[in-house]
Amino acid sequence: MIIAVDGPSGSGKSSTARGVASRLGLRYLDTGATYRAVTWSALDRGLDLDDTAAVAQRARELELEISTDPDHQFVIADGTDVTAAIREPRISEVVSKIATNLDVRKELIRRQRAVIDAAQEAGEPSGGIVVEGRDIATVVATDAELKVLLTADQEARMARRGAELGSVTAEQLRDQIVRRDADDATVSEFQVASDGAVTVDSTYMTLDEVVEVISRLALE
Ligand code: C5P
Repeated sequence: MIIAVDGPSGSGKSSTARGVASRLGLRYLDTGATYRAVTWSALDRGLDLDDTAAVAQRARELELEISTDPDHQFVIADGTDVTAAIREPRISEVVSKIATNLDVRKELIRRQRAVIDAAQEAGEPSGGIVVEGRDIATVVATDAELKVLLTADQEARMARRGAELGSVTAEQLRDQIVRRDADDATVSEFQVASDGAVTVDSTYMTLDEVVEVISRLALE
Protein backbone atom coordinates (compact mmCIF):
# COMPACT_ATOMS: atom_id res chain seq x y z
CA MET A 1 0.00 0.00 0.00
CA ILE A 2 1.15 3.52 -0.82
CA ILE A 3 -0.36 6.52 0.96
CA ALA A 4 0.50 9.89 -0.58
CA VAL A 5 0.29 12.96 1.65
CA ASP A 6 0.74 16.32 -0.05
CA GLY A 7 0.44 19.77 1.44
CA PRO A 8 2.04 23.18 1.89
CA SER A 9 4.60 24.02 4.57
CA GLY A 10 3.14 24.09 8.05
CA SER A 11 0.09 22.01 7.11
CA GLY A 12 1.33 19.40 9.58
CA LYS A 13 2.01 16.83 6.91
CA SER A 14 5.28 15.54 8.39
CA SER A 15 3.90 14.78 11.83
CA THR A 16 0.70 13.47 10.28
CA ALA A 17 2.37 11.19 7.74
CA ARG A 18 4.78 9.87 10.37
CA GLY A 19 1.91 9.27 12.78
CA VAL A 20 -0.11 7.37 10.18
CA ALA A 21 2.90 5.20 9.23
CA SER A 22 3.59 4.45 12.86
CA ARG A 23 -0.04 3.61 13.57
CA LEU A 24 -0.41 1.32 10.54
CA GLY A 25 3.05 -0.28 10.73
CA LEU A 26 4.18 1.19 7.40
CA ARG A 27 7.43 2.80 6.27
CA TYR A 28 7.61 6.58 5.93
CA LEU A 29 9.37 8.78 3.37
CA ASP A 30 9.89 12.49 3.91
CA THR A 31 10.65 13.66 0.34
CA GLY A 32 11.26 17.23 1.52
CA ALA A 33 14.31 15.90 3.37
CA THR A 34 15.84 14.81 0.04
CA TYR A 35 15.57 18.39 -1.31
CA ARG A 36 16.94 19.71 1.96
CA ALA A 37 19.88 17.29 1.84
CA VAL A 38 20.84 18.42 -1.68
CA THR A 39 20.57 22.04 -0.50
CA TRP A 40 22.80 21.29 2.46
CA SER A 41 25.37 19.64 0.22
CA ALA A 42 25.33 22.43 -2.39
CA LEU A 43 25.91 25.02 0.36
CA ASP A 44 28.56 22.84 2.01
CA ARG A 45 30.47 22.72 -1.30
CA GLY A 46 30.03 26.47 -1.77
CA LEU A 47 28.14 26.03 -5.04
CA ASP A 48 26.33 28.93 -6.67
CA LEU A 49 22.69 27.86 -6.25
CA ASP A 50 21.84 29.62 -9.53
CA ASP A 51 24.24 27.33 -11.36
CA THR A 52 21.55 24.77 -12.14
CA ALA A 53 23.91 22.36 -13.92
CA ALA A 54 26.37 22.25 -11.02
CA VAL A 55 23.59 21.79 -8.46
CA ALA A 56 21.97 19.02 -10.54
CA GLN A 57 25.34 17.31 -10.82
CA ARG A 58 25.66 17.48 -7.02
CA ALA A 59 22.21 15.91 -6.67
CA ARG A 60 23.25 13.02 -8.91
CA GLU A 61 26.56 12.49 -7.08
CA LEU A 62 25.30 12.85 -3.52
CA GLU A 63 25.34 9.67 -1.50
CA LEU A 64 22.08 9.85 0.38
CA GLU A 65 20.76 7.56 3.08
CA ILE A 66 17.34 8.40 4.40
CA SER A 67 15.57 6.48 7.15
CA THR A 68 12.09 5.16 6.40
CA ASP A 69 11.43 4.19 10.02
CA PRO A 70 8.70 6.62 11.17
CA ASP A 71 9.91 6.34 14.75
CA HIS A 72 13.60 6.86 14.02
CA GLN A 73 14.27 9.43 11.33
CA PHE A 74 17.75 10.31 10.14
CA VAL A 75 19.40 11.59 6.97
CA ILE A 76 23.02 10.86 6.07
CA ALA A 77 24.57 12.86 3.20
CA ASP A 78 28.00 11.75 1.95
CA GLY A 79 28.64 10.09 5.29
CA THR A 80 27.64 13.11 7.40
CA ASP A 81 24.59 12.96 9.67
CA VAL A 82 22.61 16.02 8.52
CA THR A 83 19.35 15.17 10.30
CA ALA A 84 19.40 18.40 12.33
CA ALA A 85 21.36 20.57 9.90
CA ILE A 86 18.81 20.26 7.09
CA ARG A 87 16.15 21.86 9.34
CA GLU A 88 18.17 25.03 9.92
CA PRO A 89 16.64 28.31 8.65
CA ARG A 90 19.58 28.80 6.23
CA ILE A 91 18.36 25.65 4.44
CA SER A 92 14.62 26.46 4.59
CA GLU A 93 15.31 29.90 3.12
CA VAL A 94 16.84 28.57 -0.12
CA VAL A 95 15.48 25.04 -0.52
CA SER A 96 12.75 26.18 -2.94
CA LYS A 97 15.46 27.34 -5.33
CA ILE A 98 16.89 23.81 -5.38
CA ALA A 99 13.42 22.29 -5.67
CA THR A 100 12.60 24.32 -8.78
CA ASN A 101 15.69 22.96 -10.56
CA LEU A 102 14.05 20.43 -12.89
CA ASP A 103 17.15 18.24 -13.20
CA VAL A 104 17.36 18.02 -9.42
CA ARG A 105 13.68 17.04 -9.31
CA LYS A 106 14.22 14.37 -11.94
CA GLU A 107 17.06 12.83 -9.94
CA LEU A 108 15.32 13.02 -6.57
CA ILE A 109 12.04 11.66 -7.92
CA ARG A 110 13.99 8.71 -9.33
CA ARG A 111 15.50 8.08 -5.88
CA GLN A 112 12.16 8.55 -4.11
CA ARG A 113 10.54 5.96 -6.42
CA ALA A 114 13.35 3.51 -5.64
CA VAL A 115 12.67 3.89 -1.90
CA ILE A 116 8.94 3.36 -2.51
CA ASP A 117 9.59 0.25 -4.62
CA ALA A 118 11.85 -1.21 -1.93
CA ALA A 119 9.18 -0.65 0.72
CA GLN A 120 6.56 -2.28 -1.48
CA GLU A 121 8.76 -5.31 -1.98
CA ALA A 122 9.37 -5.69 1.76
CA GLY A 123 6.06 -7.57 2.01
CA GLU A 124 3.73 -7.86 4.97
CA PRO A 125 3.44 -6.60 7.64
CA SER A 126 5.45 -3.57 6.53
CA GLY A 127 4.79 -3.80 2.78
CA GLY A 128 3.72 -0.26 2.41
CA ILE A 129 4.79 3.31 2.82
CA VAL A 130 3.43 6.73 3.62
CA VAL A 131 5.09 9.26 1.31
CA GLU A 132 4.94 12.93 2.12
CA GLY A 133 5.73 15.99 0.02
CA ARG A 134 4.42 18.39 -2.61
CA ASP A 135 3.95 16.37 -5.79
CA ILE A 136 3.56 12.85 -4.49
CA ALA A 137 0.05 12.04 -5.73
CA THR A 138 0.51 13.90 -9.03
CA VAL A 139 4.04 12.86 -10.01
CA VAL A 140 6.01 10.60 -7.66
CA ALA A 141 3.44 7.94 -6.78
CA THR A 142 0.45 8.41 -9.08
CA ASP A 143 -0.66 4.85 -8.30
CA ALA A 144 -1.02 5.48 -4.54
CA GLU A 145 -4.04 3.71 -3.05
CA LEU A 146 -4.84 6.72 -0.89
CA LYS A 147 -4.08 10.32 -1.85
CA VAL A 148 -4.45 13.00 0.78
CA LEU A 149 -4.13 16.73 0.32
CA LEU A 150 -3.57 18.18 3.76
CA THR A 151 -4.43 21.85 4.10
CA ALA A 152 -4.69 24.38 6.90
CA ASP A 153 -5.32 28.09 6.72
CA GLN A 154 -2.34 30.41 6.76
CA GLU A 155 -2.79 31.51 10.39
CA ALA A 156 -2.82 27.92 11.62
CA ARG A 157 0.25 27.09 9.55
CA MET A 158 2.03 30.11 10.96
CA ALA A 159 1.18 29.12 14.50
CA ARG A 160 2.54 25.60 13.94
CA ARG A 161 5.74 26.76 12.31
CA GLY A 162 6.14 29.29 15.13
CA ALA A 163 5.90 26.54 17.70
CA GLU A 164 8.54 24.57 15.76
CA LEU A 165 10.95 27.45 15.27
CA GLY A 166 10.65 29.03 18.69
CA SER A 167 12.11 32.48 18.55
CA VAL A 168 11.20 34.16 15.24
CA THR A 169 8.72 37.02 15.19
CA ALA A 170 5.22 36.75 13.73
CA GLU A 171 6.24 39.03 10.86
CA GLN A 172 9.31 36.93 10.01
CA LEU A 173 7.18 33.82 10.11
CA ARG A 174 4.48 35.27 7.87
CA ASP A 175 7.16 36.39 5.40
CA GLN A 176 8.72 32.93 5.37
CA ILE A 177 5.45 31.10 4.83
CA VAL A 178 4.13 33.50 2.19
CA ARG A 179 7.48 33.49 0.36
CA ARG A 180 7.84 29.70 0.44
CA ASP A 181 4.25 29.23 -0.79
CA ALA A 182 5.00 31.58 -3.66
CA ASP A 183 8.37 29.97 -4.46
CA ASP A 184 6.91 26.48 -4.34
CA ALA A 185 4.02 27.51 -6.59
CA THR A 186 6.47 28.28 -9.40
CA VAL A 187 6.81 24.57 -10.15
CA SER A 188 3.59 23.80 -11.98
CA GLU A 189 3.10 20.28 -10.61
CA PHE A 190 2.45 21.72 -7.15
CA GLN A 191 -0.69 23.36 -8.39
CA VAL A 192 -2.23 20.44 -10.23
CA ALA A 193 -4.90 18.81 -8.12
CA SER A 194 -4.64 15.06 -8.10
CA ASP A 195 -7.47 12.85 -9.33
CA GLY A 196 -9.15 11.10 -6.47
CA ALA A 197 -7.31 12.97 -3.70
CA VAL A 198 -9.12 13.49 -0.41
CA THR A 199 -8.67 16.98 1.01
CA VAL A 200 -8.31 17.07 4.79
CA ASP A 201 -8.42 20.55 6.32
CA SER A 202 -6.50 20.31 9.60
CA THR A 203 -7.08 23.91 10.72
CA TYR A 204 -9.37 22.93 13.60
CA MET A 205 -8.10 19.41 14.20
CA THR A 206 -5.49 18.06 16.58
CA LEU A 207 -2.65 15.94 15.22
CA ASP A 208 -4.22 12.80 16.72
CA GLU A 209 -7.52 13.55 15.01
CA VAL A 210 -5.88 14.00 11.61
CA VAL A 211 -3.87 10.78 12.04
CA GLU A 212 -7.07 8.97 13.03
CA VAL A 213 -9.02 10.24 9.99
CA ILE A 214 -6.30 9.30 7.50
CA SER A 215 -5.65 5.91 9.09
CA ARG A 216 -9.34 5.13 8.88
CA LEU A 217 -9.46 6.17 5.21
CA ALA A 218 -6.48 3.90 4.54
CA LEU A 219 -8.19 0.89 6.12
CA GLU A 220 -11.48 1.37 4.25
O1 C5P B 1 8.42 19.56 3.46
P1 C5P B 1 9.61 20.45 3.62
O2 C5P B 1 9.31 21.83 4.15
O3 C5P B 1 10.74 19.81 4.37
O4 C5P B 1 10.15 20.65 2.12
C1 C5P B 1 11.20 21.53 1.85
C2 C5P B 1 11.06 22.07 0.45
O5 C5P B 1 11.33 21.03 -0.50
C3 C5P B 1 9.68 22.61 0.07
O6 C5P B 1 9.53 23.96 0.44
C4 C5P B 1 9.67 22.45 -1.43
O7 C5P B 1 10.35 23.53 -2.03
C5 C5P B 1 10.53 21.21 -1.64
N1 C5P B 1 9.78 19.97 -1.88
C6 C5P B 1 9.41 19.69 -3.17
N2 C5P B 1 8.79 18.51 -3.46
C7 C5P B 1 8.53 17.63 -2.50
C8 C5P B 1 8.89 17.90 -1.17
C9 C5P B 1 9.50 19.11 -0.88
O8 C5P B 1 9.64 20.48 -4.07
N3 C5P B 1 7.95 16.45 -2.83
